[in-house]
Amino acid sequence: MFSDRDTIVAPATAPGGAIAVIRISGADAIVLCDRIFRGRKPLCEAAPQTVHYGRIVDGTETVDDVLATVFRAPRSYTGEDSVELSCHGSPYIVGEILRLLTAAGGRMAAPGEFTIRAYLAGKLDLAQAEAVADLIASSSRAAHRLATTQMRGGYSAALDALRDELLRLTALLELELDFSEEEVEFADRTQLRDTMRRIGAEIDRLGESFALGNAIREGVAVAIVGAPNAGKSTLLNRLLGEERALVSEIAGTTRDVVEETLQIDGVAFRLLDTAGIRPTNDRIERMGIERTMASISRARIVVRLLDATTLRTDEAGRLSIPAPEFTLGAEQRLLTAVNKCDLLPPAATLPDDCIALSAREGRGIDALRRALRAAVDTEALYHGDPIVSRIRHYEALAEARRALAAALAALDQGLPADLLSEEIRTVVRHIGTITGRGAIATDEVLQHIFSKFCVGK
Ligand code: GDP
Repeated sequence: MFSDRDTIVAPATAPGGAIAVIRISGADAIVLCDRIFRGRKPLCEAAPQTVHYGRIVDGTETVDDVLATVFRAPRSYTGEDSVELSCHGSPYIVGEILRLLTAAGGRMAAPGEFTIRAYLAGKLDLAQAEAVADLIASSSRAAHRLATTQMRGGYSAALDALRDELLRLTALLELELDFSEEEVEFADRTQLRDTMRRIGAEIDRLGESFALGNAIREGVAVAIVGAPNAGKSTLLNRLLGEERALVSEIAGTTRDVVEETLQIDGVAFRLLDTAGIRPTNDRIERMGIERTMASISRARIVVRLLDATTLRTDEAGRLSIPAPEFTLGAEQRLLTAVNKCDLLPPAATLPDDCIALSAREGRGIDALRRALRAAVDTEALYHGDPIVSRIRHYEALAEARRALAAALAALDQGLPADLLSEEIRTVVRHIGTITGRGAIATDEVLQHIFSKFCVGK
């Protein structure tokens, strides 16, 4: 399917707008459009990258007035001859034009097929193609930024640099084989080990960035935990405030979701297990200890909500904060918030690192939002550092890391150059699967990646 030369057609815009765009790509794209397009002159006489006004006709009947943009290979998204028809946004008109185009010899495109062609034509690598899908789906500024950086190839360049360096090492090792009689070492083993260690550290850094990348792509996971009655659901309502009112206008969209999202200064946060937080009559639905622990383990940020009225106060009016009943991983952040501060005597004070809240009165909510935002380090993004945001890439890097460890072990054991070079080539292969460079990805991999695209992209 991915290598056929059919001319493909698809709507590129979602229904409901004033204008709709239909994309046609393939060797016959222009000829095919000419069968149903009537303008001042046929599109096949049009100069590349030009726009033409005309009508789409079905026999003697006019279907719509359109603008046709003509792209000639290789200067198009897919690298093929392509046409984009901008017509009026009626689903009927779009349906009619697609029917005419397929009758004239086009085939309806599969999801992501335009981008697959761009990949096969060498216009994008796989990581960039995936970034196209992420860009379309991005719902926060940080996710948008990440996708844009990736699409422009920043991340691919970092991976290519690693690959090149590894290939250079294998070339040196393989050179030794040609001189095997003479027992020369072109690749100084100490230097080789240093280089491999450095590459290992770089792979580790990329692997570690996945936690942040994934958080940005999917939203940063936040768990709000606290004893019953601490005010979790009141706080949740405060945090979601206006945003939820907005979403609930779209009928039936939010009622049964367990996670709600919140945007703070361009970063999306996912509030875990909000079904457990919301008051419910169903006893089974009530948040149990295990469930709390599960949310905590999935969270990047844990907000521990304490009830001010249950805390002890010393003579000076200072509230003491008990130690948390759970431990967090090194990657996780803990925020401690004390709720119901409106019920405290005026002289009461809190430790500096606590956020004083009154969820009921809406006090301290901004401070909590700021603390949530500050707990996410998006600096790396703004410096344009390559960041891994997809599990597929993360897994390939983990494989590459394992292979590199094996190669280092082989080096320490003084294995011969050919075996060593073979081990390093395995690392190269794993890194190559991320960008699809080195070897064209198999149909199975392509299918998996592109099936999640929308049609028309
Ligand atoms: P949850 O069980 O942790 O979800 O707690 P709820 O949000 O249901 O709150 C429990 C009770 O505490 C309710 O009666 C709330 O109105 C009350 N409450 C929540 N936040 C505050 C607050 O900031 N101040 C005061 N005085 N009461 C609060």
